Amino acid sequence: VRVLETIGELRLVLGEARAAGLSVGFVPTMGYLHAGHVSLMEASVSDNDVTVVSIFVNPLQFAPSEDLGTYPVDPTGDLAACREAGVDHVFVPSAEQMYPSAMSTSVSVGEVSAPLEGEFRPTHFSGVATVVAKLFSIIGPCRAYFGAKDWQQVAVVRRMAADLSFPVDVIDRPIVRDPDGLALSSRNVHLSTEQRSQAGVLQRSLLIGAQLVAAGETDPSVVEAAMKEAISRAPLADLDYAAAVRPDTLTSDGPLHGEVRLLVAVRFGRVRLIDNVGCRTLEP
Ligand code: AMP
Repeated sequence: VRVLETIGELRLVLGEARAAGLSVGFVPTMGYLHAGHVSLMEASVSDNDVTVVSIFVNPLQFAPSEDLGTYPVDPTGDLAACREAGVDHVFVPSAEQMYPSAMSTSVSVGEVSAPLEGEFRPTHFSGVATVVAKLFSIIGPCRAYFGAKDWQQVAVVRRMAADLSFPVDVIDRPIVRDPDGLALSSRNVHLSTEQRSQAGVLQRSLLIGAQLVAAGETDPSVVEAAMKEAISRAPLADLDYAAAVRPDTLTSDGPLHGEVRLLVAVRFGRVRLIDNVGCRTLEP
């Protein structure tokens, strides 16, 4: 595995790979890599001739009140995980490398950025769309891999890539979980023992919602109320939202029909966790 710190070096290496007719797969991450990230890397390694992983804690996607300063880092462990997964290149730019004179340009994706995460983190998705657009432009991947854990993020990136005509296939991969159902997240390391013991409530609430939908419930507010009630049973959990929506627009327009996505966001102290699951109504 080769570690590259500058845009210039990475462009050179990947330009040569593409000129030789090799396909390039890309996995963007913020590091502190876990089995969820590894599943994306393995998918890329198996689908592509060359795989690039970026590790960059992107300041643009954190609001001033958020956890940029305490975001966990583990450069040694990250490199070992990349090596073991068969990754070819790890791009670890500094903030100065990515944003040499701050950033005057921003990419913002309408509609799909607005609900749910967009309501609680109004500047988050423009930070994500901007850095991913920049990384796509630097790397020129054929395929890029994202986790379904950040369901709305995948929708935002897909729309951005389509609108800006990036010739990249945006691929989403399933959520990797701990045995009690908690979705793996770099942020889980900040949970106290007591918070961690209650964090399985996210997936439990989603499964309760999914059961209701599978049993014929089509009123999103009934499904949402059941998920909220489940979360309220964990005393340390503070709910941001519990939503039953269309998987593509992240909104609901009247009764649920066909494919449905259930999404929750919950705070345990300063640690904010998100999770989601897909289900479908009885009548398509
Ligand atoms: P992050 O480092 O949190 O920015 O995540 C980098 C990529 O890994 C994103 O596409 C995430 O959706 C994905 N990811 C994070 N956690 C998981 C997980 N538990 N299962 C699958 N993918 C994940």
